Amino acid sequence: MKKTNYNLLLSRSIMETSELLDKKEVSSVELTGLVLEQIKEKDKDIKAFITVSGKEALEQAKESDKRISNGKRLSKIDGVPISLKDNILTKNIKTTAGSKMLEDFVPAFDATIVERLKSAGAIIIGKTNLDAWAHGASTENSDFFTTHNPYDLERVPGGSSGGSCAAVASNMGFASVGTDTGGSIRQPAGFCSVVGLKPTYGRCSRYGLVAMGSSLDQPGPITKTAEDAAMLLEIVCGDDPRDSTTVPGKKFQNPNIKCQIKSKTQMSNVKIGLPKEYFSKGLDPKVEEKVRNAVKILEGQGAKIKQISLPHTDYAVAVYYIIMPAEVSSNLARYDGIRFGFSAEKIQNSKFKIQNLLDLYNYNRAEGFGNEAKRRIMLGTYVLSAGYAEEYYKKAMQVRTLVCRDFEKAFKEVDVIITPTSPTLPFKIGERESDPLSMYLADVYTVSANIAGIPAISIPVGFVEETRKLETSQFKKHKKNTSSLPVGMQILGPQWSEELILKVANSYEQMK
Ligand code: GLN
Repeated sequence: MKKTNYNLLLSRSIMETSELLDKKEVSSVELTGLVLEQIKEKDKDIKAFITVSGKEALEQAKESDKRISNGKRLSKIDGVPISLKDNILTKNIKTTAGSKMLEDFVPAFDATIVERLKSAGAIIIGKTNLDAWAHGASTENSDFFTTHNPYDLERVPGGSSGGSCAAVASNMGFASVGTDTGGSIRQPAGFCSVVGLKPTYGRCSRYGLVAMGSSLDQPGPITKTAEDAAMLLEIVCGDDPRDSTTVPGKKFQNPNIKCQIKSKTQMSNVKIGLPKEYFSKGLDPKVEEKVRNAVKILEGQGAKIKQISLPHTDYAVAVYYIIMPAEVSSNLARYDGIRFGFSAEKIQNSKFKIQNLLDLYNYNRAEGFGNEAKRRIMLGTYVLSAGYAEEYYKKAMQVRTLVCRDFEKAFKEVDVIITPTSPTLPFKIGERESDPLSMYLADVYTVSANIAGIPAISIPVGFVEETRKLETSQFKKHKKNTSSLPVGMQILGPQWSEELILKVANSYEQMK
């Protein structure tokens, strides 16, 4: 096969690749080999992967090819190489959560979602970079290295699932699975021009994820199309006795998200709400224009558009930065250097004097955690402490209810809500790193879905041309003095409405 054909092959969706595997036009071993080559070539610059599990992937691919030749293919993803964010536990493959604390941690078991992917025959090609503990919106907070945006290497890919989104965007694997606590699937999906779905809280098991904010976390698919996202969600979702927050009877089965492109009226019974609070100050006009154009396309397909209000939107980030750190401080308490992570061996060369158990804890936590994790542990411990819990944590929980009610009310008037995924284009590496508040604001449009537990998807809606100063570029590959930067649009729906939001996404994809 010619190189151009390789590139074409790697750029396909899972559904298309699946057909090629069925028709035996390509084998899983060939596909896996090509993806590994692509990683070798591209990842020097993009740096999406912490671990590439090439040997294991090729073994899995051989098994898959055997099944295919025996006519026993397990699912549409059988034989298709994908990656996983490195806070999802993989048996015998290092899982770091992007943190020094877990630099050498090799889990003894697979997360439930990984078990399900493996049982469906997916090939796990490697583990992708993230902000340490999934704390961040740019991957600059990874303890190992920063991932670069494939569309402009001087910009961030978003975060915290920045490695996963950059990998899918540059064809290093056909899809990925990320996690989303406040926007970590959707925001980087928007920045990298891929599809990212955060399912309803309780749809997918969190067993075997490195927990961040347990009342907010959800794993979800990162793909090239809405159809692929639906397929991947169908595989990983469903209740799990090991995660009591999963809801029985909510399997996402045989979703029918494919729209009839010929029919002009396909969207005619869908009412779309545009919340005025999401189209106001702070939104880059170039981003707004792209999103409004995409809404027009849906309107052209028959959808009814209505302006709505989600009056408590302004409080969402504040509520999130109380509830999330409270949960983080509790979840990170287990990393004491004894059961996981940082080991006593490293102490020998240190200036620390370890005289008792407390010294050991102090040493491990001081050395193993970065500044952002420490900031969140301190914030969380503070808002939960006696005397303050009522004032901060309890208040935040009350306002959380108000945010949920905003959505409940809105969904009585409209079927789905559309917003930009982020207020800005992908920002430059280093631009926000020293200013936590500006980094936190990268998620203004995404946190509410986690607070309310509702599903939300980000889909690509085009590119904006930005000029670049070539003389300062450290990347020789930049030959043009402009770069095309992706814009993402977010579609939110009521709890358990994944089928509907995927349908709207699919409809847009077909008409754009
Ligand atoms: N950027 C947000 C944060 O830093 C969201 C992270 C996430 O969803 N994991 O908390």
